[in-house]
Amino acid sequence: MKKLVVTLFVFIALTVTQALAYNLKDFSNDGRIIAAMQLLEQNGDYDVFANMQKNRVKVMFYNLSGYGNVYGTNSYDQYGRRVILINSVYANAPVEQIACLIAHESMHVLRKATLEEETIATQKEAATWVKLKRASVTYPESKLTKRLNKLAGLHRASLADGNNYIHDKIASSSFYKAQFGI
Ligand SMILES: [Zn+2]
Repeated sequence: MKKLVVTLFVFIALTVTQALAYNLKDFSNDGRIIAAMQLLEQNGDYDVFANMQKNRVKVMFYNLSGYGNVYGTNSYDQYGRRVILINSVYANAPVEQIACLIAHESMHVLRKATLEEETIATQKEAATWVKLKRASVTYPESKLTKRLNKLAGLHRASLADGNNYIHDKIASSSFYKAQFGI
């Protein structure tokens, strides 16, 4: 009985600590973005928040139609503060998909992304989708769903045989070849 009480106390204490760890409203004032961040927090993705907190990042939906076909990007506001911009085309995407895009962008720390950093960010995006995708949900037939499912497949294949298929995909993409000058 005593052991159970101690265990319960520790459990409650941990839960309270984690709930207080991040005030998600510090990062965004958009309800769907906050809901997506709650999923990440429940999922134990503290690396996402550690990075955003360190850099005092704000996350928002933004019209990125002038930037080609991007899902999200890191930018800076007029005060030089980092902002994560999620393409507003996906403002109504399922929150678990928005969470994947936030997880990806939160991994970027350099002002100019490198192949290595893009690989880490995309691996995080894929791993997040593997964890958050719900078997009971029929997801919209969007480009984002296709992308996430493809990345999840590459992620699983990499875990199975030790290759890094996500790295290979990025390294061979003409979009990133141009961006990284490779
Ligand atoms: Zn990226």
